[in-house]
Amino acid sequence: MKRAIRSQSHLRRFLGLPESRDSSANVAERFPTFVPLELASRIRPGDPGDPILRQVLATSDELVEQPGFIDDPVGDLDADAGGGVLHKYAGRALIVTHGACAVHCRYCFRREFPYSQNSSRLQYWAPAVEYIRSDASVDEVLLSGGDPLTLTDGALDRLVGRIESIPHVRRLRIHTRLPIAIPQRITPDLVDRLARSRLSVWVVIHANHANEIDENVGSAISALKRAGISLLNQSVLLSGVNDDAKVLADLSTKLINLGVQPYYLHQLDQVRGASHFWVDIERGKQIIGELRDSLPGYAVPKYVIEHAGEKSKTPIA
Ligand code: SF4
Repeated sequence: MKRAIRSQSHLRRFLGLPESRDSSANVAERFPTFVPLELASRIRPGDPGDPILRQVLATSDELVEQPGFIDDPVGDLDADAGGGVLHKYAGRALIVTHGACAVHCRYCFRREFPYSQNSSRLQYWAPAVEYIRSDASVDEVLLSGGDPLTLTDGALDRLVGRIESIPHVRRLRIHTRLPIAIPQRITPDLVDRLARSRLSVWVVIHANHANEIDENVGSAISALKRAGISLLNQSVLLSGVNDDAKVLADLSTKLINLGVQPYYLHQLDQVRGASHFWVDIERGKQIIGELRDSLPGYAVPKYVIEHAGEKSKTPIA
């Protein structure tokens, strides 16, 4: 992460793209650029339409104010149970493990999230762990963020150990883009720690396009798979990235070949600054229909939307 590209001009230079005259610099100040070299190396040099580039390149489109696109589109702040825990759904509690991410995705639904007020990391997660210990209905803990795998192996080990010490917790779900962004983060020690857990461990990777998955990503995923860890993928339907049945079929095929189940295709959360990624829901339904015609059923993700305050994601098609 220390070597990551941290400015729009560096990213453009790296890819042989001309400097832009739009106001992307102002945009990138609000939500800074962060692109690891490992991911940047999968972007086609000189191609402004590259589907990975579109996910990480700030543009003046982010300055467009669209009605309905707001700071907290999924009601995270209303679900804040204190101590860095978001408790939205029955049986599951989410720990905002860390504010850092291995890549800054321009469509991120938490791009305006007040991480500094919501992580209990500085207190070694004691408030979060106590909250979960006191609620016997919680049998699944999600580690999210930011990206929980930005923690060191030691910090993660301590956190997982504390969660394992709560008898009513049976499952651990880790939401991370690190296997995609910097696949070498999936170290043998990390794999071993997760494999040793008494909890049933699920890792949800977040890939949106088949180009994100190269040989190194495949090796990282295979290491997790061999260790008996269950793997799911979530994608966001993004205009100009994956709003095409062939593109999503290629992604699903790559995922199932690696033993990762395509789990959700999310309708974009309406966060301020991301309206240019919006895909019409009717178009999304059409794409899902085309995927059903070409893939085995288990390779077709559930097309869902999240409405703030609802008890689950809402299926669209
Ligand atoms: S990795 Fe996830 S939380 Fe981090 S910027 Fe990307 S979408 Fe947002």
